[in-house]
Amino acid sequence: MRLENNQKKRRTKWWIALGAAVTIFAGASLGALSAYNWSPEEAIEGLFGISLQQSISQNNHEERTIDEDVKEITRAEELTEDSETAYPEEPERTPETMDEPTYVKGVLIANKQYPLPTDYAPGENPEARAAYDDMQEAASEAGFSLVAFSTYRSYDYQTDLYNRYVDEHGQEEADRFSARPGYSEHQTGLGFDIGAEDQEEHWASDSFKDTDEAKWLAENAHQYGFILRYPAGKEHITGYQYESWHFRYLGKDLATKVYNSGLTLEEYLGI
Ligand SMILES: [Zn+2]
Repeated sequence: MRLENNQKKRRTKWWIALGAAVTIFAGASLGALSAYNWSPEEAIEGLFGISLQQSISQNNHEERTIDEDVKEITRAEELTEDSETAYPEEPERTPETMDEPTYVKGVLIANKQYPLPTDYAPGENPEARAAYDDMQEAASEAGFSLVAFSTYRSYDYQTDLYNRYVDEHGQEEADRFSARPGYSEHQTGLGFDIGAEDQEEHWASDSFKDTDEAKWLAENAHQYGFILRYPAGKEHITGYQYESWHFRYLGKDLATKVYNSGLTLEEYLGI
C-alpha cells in the first residue's frame, strides 16, 4: 500500500515535471517567436536551443523560468554577433571603458572586438622599427625599395582620419578599410603600412598587391617578424578587406608560426 502510494506520487511528480517542461518549451518558443520575429526555420533552431538548454538545466537541477530561457537566447545571439567582424552594436568594451589593452596569449590585440584605451599612446615600437629596418635592408639587397609610410597613429590622429573617410565614403564603407578611433592596430605602434618608394600611387591601395614589392613582402615579412595582417578572403574574420600593405609586428618566432599556419591572427589565437 505504501509502495503503491510512493509509485503514485512518483508518477504524479513525473507528470507535473513533464507538464512544466512542455509549458516552458511552448511559452519560450511563443515568446521568442514574437520577440524576435523569427521565421519558421529560425524558430526550429530556437526551439532546439531551448530544449537543449532545458535538458542541461534539468541535469543541473536548476529551476528555470521562461525569462531565463529568453535571456539565454539573447546571450547566444550576442555571442554570434561577437564572432562576426562588425563592431558589436552594444559593445562590452569601448575605448572609453578600457583601462588596459587586451593581451591574448601574450599578444597585444586591437580589432573591432578588442579596442584600446583612448589614452594608450606607446608610440612606434622600437623593436618593430629595428625589425622593419632589417627587412628594408634585405629588400633593398633583393632590389626593392620599401617605405613604411604609416606606422604609429595616435587616438586623436585616427579620429581625424576616420572622420574624414566617413565624410568621403559613408560609415559602412569606411568601416571596411579604416578603423574607428581606439580600434586601430596602428595605435599599438606595431602596425606598419608599407609601400614601394616612388610609387605613391599604390600606397594603401589595392593595386599594391600586384607590385614586386608586395609579393616580396608577402613571402618574406615573417622572417623579420611581420605578418600580412588582413589577407585576401578573410574579411569575415579580421573585419577588414585585403590590405596587401598592412603588416603587424609579432616577432620572428610567432610571425613564422602564424605564417606557416596559413591562419589569420584571430584564428591562430582562437579569438
Ligand atoms: Zn595599416
